[in-house]
Amino acid sequence: MEQPIAVTRQSFDDWMVPVYAPADFILVRGEGSQVWDQQGKSYIDFAGGIAVNALGHAHPVVTAALVEQAGKLWHLGNGYTNEPVLRLAKLLIDATFAEKVFFCNSGAEANEAALKLARKRALDNGNHSKNQIVAFNNAFHGRTLFTVSAGGQPKYSKDFAPLPGGITHTPFNDLAAAAEVINDNTCAVIVEPIQGEGGVLPADAAFLQGLRELCGRHDALLIFDEVQTGMGRTGDLYAYMQYGVVPDVLTTAKALGCGFPIGAMLTTDELAKTLSVGTHGTTYGGNPLATAVAGAVFSVINTPEVLEGVKQRHQWFLDGLNKINQQYPIFSEIRGGGLLIGCQLTKDYAGKAKQITQLANEEGVIALIAGPDVVRFTPSLVIPEQDVKEGLARFARAVARICS
Ligand SMILES: *Cc1c(COP(=O)(O)O)cnc(C)c1O
Repeated sequence: MEQPIAVTRQSFDDWMVPVYAPADFILVRGEGSQVWDQQGKSYIDFAGGIAVNALGHAHPVVTAALVEQAGKLWHLGNGYTNEPVLRLAKLLIDATFAEKVFFCNSGAEANEAALKLARKRALDNGNHSKNQIVAFNNAFHGRTLFTVSAGGQPKYSKDFAPLPGGITHTPFNDLAAAAEVINDNTCAVIVEPIQGEGGVLPADAAFLQGLRELCGRHDALLIFDEVQTGMGRTGDLYAYMQYGVVPDVLTTAKALGCGFPIGAMLTTDELAKTLSVGTHGTTYGGNPLATAVAGAVFSVINTPEVLEGVKQRHQWFLDGLNKINQQYPIFSEIRGGGLLIGCQLTKDYAGKAKQITQLANEEGVIALIAGPDVVRFTPSLVIPEQDVKEGLARFARAVARICS
């Protein structure tokens, strides 16, 4: 057999379109919440592939589902339905407000479907001026042209003008500002229950309740982007359940496949009628391989053990991070929900989040940033206590180094 091509971190710079700046080592293997690089160095994984690997690496139930389905049927195209997709749809419907599901391959695509649904619904109802979308500053909804325009970080969209129009941004958690722009021409309001990429900023309950009321009053769809907060991340299956605010449309991806690409848009019977045959679609959406994996993921995550365990693990992280912060006061706030945790750096350490995660890598722990001033943790929902302890001990060493 031919030798595999030799690859190093330098190969990335040589061969890859430079939209990413990955760490200077290459990970080759993972098990639970530990990963190893080419040199055999171990890391505790507090990033979980950016809130994706919610059951860690190589989870036996998920791996078994993948292997079993791989030997049966991978893909058919949407001219033929399949058993795994129907089973996954039923699991999601039984567990949420939803009555209908559309499957796709990513968070951006789920949001794209939600926004298109909102525009078409208004048009179907004969309302030609009801096409305005309200979104929030700092929001992140994906990288397609429509979703990056809905996102509230102009640095991600400005270079791709002309952008889709009809999208207005107002400050997050400012209900009065939202009330000024939501009117009868608004077809949708899109919001993350906790802004993830924007800095791990939880919505106030009153803000989401207020948006619910405004959407009701103006017949606009309330879209919750739960791509990051969903699938148990906050300790409930979806964050809307904690807030007690039910959206019209919910988007989910990331942890849904625990690393196998899949996204979904959940909605009601009534709204689902908008996307009639031929009006939307995607080649891979709902293919049997992806949905078999997601079905296994779902059946493990949507259990009291895992969801209760998230709340317990939240406390382990909070206790450990507070202790680190007592010794080396670099955080002005530790916030978030469940295992979506953001540590806001004090003024003295502003802009140093990336540097801290690089030092953390050197110490053998993988952490994330959420903007230049926030260190973010999105570990596996089932990370063992000893990995939390060991990872935090390594992280503490990184913090000690930045403070010295
Ligand atoms: C990651 C993310 C997205 C985009 O998901 P992709 O799978 O990268 O397209 C959208 N919304 C939120 C809230 C996210 O965190």
